[in-house]
Amino acid sequence: MNLPKEVVICEVGPRDGLQNEDKVIPVDEKVQLINKLSDSGYQVIEVGSFVSPKAVPQMASTDEVFSKIQIKQGVEYRAFVANLKGVERAIECGCKKVKLNVSASKKHNLANLNMTPSESVSKFKDCVDLALSNGLEISGSISMPFGSPWEHKIPINDVKDIVKAYLNVGIKEVSLSDASGMAVPLQVYYMCTEFIKEFPQVKWILHFHNTRGVGNANILAGMQAGVTWFDTSFGGLGGCPFVPGAEGNVVSEDVIHMLHEMGVETAIDLDKVISIAERVSLIVGHSLPSYILKAGKSSNLIR
Ligand code: ZN
Repeated sequence: MNLPKEVVICEVGPRDGLQNEDKVIPVDEKVQLINKLSDSGYQVIEVGSFVSPKAVPQMASTDEVFSKIQIKQGVEYRAFVANLKGVERAIECGCKKVKLNVSASKKHNLANLNMTPSESVSKFKDCVDLALSNGLEISGSISMPFGSPWEHKIPINDVKDIVKAYLNVGIKEVSLSDASGMAVPLQVYYMCTEFIKEFPQVKWILHFHNTRGVGNANILAGMQAGVTWFDTSFGGLGGCPFVPGAEGNVVSEDVIHMLHEMGVETAIDLDKVISIAERVSLIVGHSLPSYILKAGKSSNLIR
């Protein structure tokens, strides 16, 4: 198999996970969690989002969280933004990396914003300019490129058009986000292989939800195609507001355990990650869809 020696795991639990909880988590709890994440070796942490506090009250405190976390050298603390206002808030509180998003579904994007996905991306130019001129990095995410509840499969050329639109506005880091949990491994392999070949200048990140139980298999397929950056969430926390029954993201500790057992390095301390997931379960007040939390590491069985 064509496995990389090392991959980068981006922890998205503080954003994608906690935003799906009914309960709003106190700032100090979030700050402690994020400090523990950087301490466990994560190189990328998605801290929160700068979006309307009315629409997403769980993320209203992201500015305060940013001002209170202990910034560890070499760690990228990123945040999700939807518009210029979001970039302004990021600059204000010292956030150095923001991520935009567009839906790959034409129907979804037309219904929501009355624009095609590529037109939406071309409107991000002012966000990119503001971010770059203030020393922030900026990336773009494409949600549901592997399939959407509106049209099932998305034509690959439609997704390529969105990637080109991102490149046109100056964004070279693109995350493919299977928020609807419809991706399957063979599709991931072929799409990623083709994207990497056609857009070698892009840094690709894969973001899978485990809605239909194939999240980890999709990660393996992504690695086979040459992708080395993956989003995961502590305890598998997360969901998707548009997708009925959507499960959370792929589980950080399950993915890291799988990778380490295969000799793929992450520079992350799995034991620390497990204790963070245990803490998250207590904070949110319910059990989490994590295999490793239930069964423990396979190396624990050796006596
Ligand atoms: Zn997600």
